[in-house]
Amino acid sequence: MALLLTMGSLSVADPDDISTTSSPTAHSSLSDHDQFNARDADVIFQSSDGVRFHLHRTNLGVITGAFPGAELDTRDEVVHLAEPARVLEILFQYVYPKRHPDLENLDFQLLAELAEAVEKYEVFPAMNTCVTRLRHYTPQHPLETLVHGIKHDYPKLIDTAAPHLIMSPLVAICEKLPLVCIVPWLRFYSYTREAIFGAARSFIDRKGRYSSCHAGDDEICNQCRSCVLAWIADLEKIESREALQAALMKYQDYPRFEYCSKCSYACMHMPGVAKMCEEALTAIRSFSSFLTGERLA
Ligand SMILES: [Zn+2]
Ligand SMILES: [Zn+2]
Repeated sequence: MALLLTMGSLSVADPDDISTTSSPTAHSSLSDHDQFNARDADVIFQSSDGVRFHLHRTNLGVITGAFPGAELDTRDEVVHLAEPARVLEILFQYVYPKRHPDLENLDFQLLAELAEAVEKYEVFPAMNTCVTRLRHYTPQHPLETLVHGIKHDYPKLIDTAAPHLIMSPLVAICEKLPLVCIVPWLRFYSYTREAIFGAARSFIDRKGRYSSCHAGDDEICNQCRSCVLAWIADLEKIESREALQAALMKYQDYPRFEYCSKCSYACMHMPGVAKMCEEALTAIRSFSSFLTGERLA
């Protein structure tokens, strides 16, 4: 028997993930959840790990978009969900007029599973809270949070996550993105890297070249010029934004070249290049602006 669920426009419950049966497959350790076991409950959900949640269809119908409401009779059948109890016990707390759960200490994996379930079942009161929490995890999990933002249309999450990925290998990113986002990502990637490294190269190229040692801010000797351009080329090969920022801060530790006698351990123009790259990194154009006009869902 298929449940008639109200489908939202962006995310819909996968029919394969929801099934009802009056004689469910035998589960080794079926149990009722301590908190969701009211006697007057009129619908039973069973988690993937065999925990049963007894809920009220009226609440589900009012609060959520993709669960069956009071208008549907599930005939005391059990609705099987694909999520484990640890996700559902948080999700179902949003269905009742009580203080919402504190998501502050959820580890990323659980938060990601919860956020996905919240979108799938359209638990509206939980959506923004989940996304706000996900934004805190963008430095550690930029790709997962970016994909969530794209899939469920959260531009702030997209634009918080995307800059963390600008040094990541293209293939790794494109493998995870929806097809429609790949060309925008290539544009974003090229645009941003040109803003960082192209500008740095131009900064050096604009200076007057001299075969002898450079005499001032607007001049660079050939020896240092070669060294600094090679340093910029090496910076471009770094595969994380954090490592790039560390390399920019420690430009004087760059070991490979010998600069001219005037510059000795580090070329006097390296701080200017580092500052330019840092500023470009903090002023990255939003990835969502490259997605304008793309149909994401
Ligand atoms: Zn010099
Ligand atoms: Zn120099």
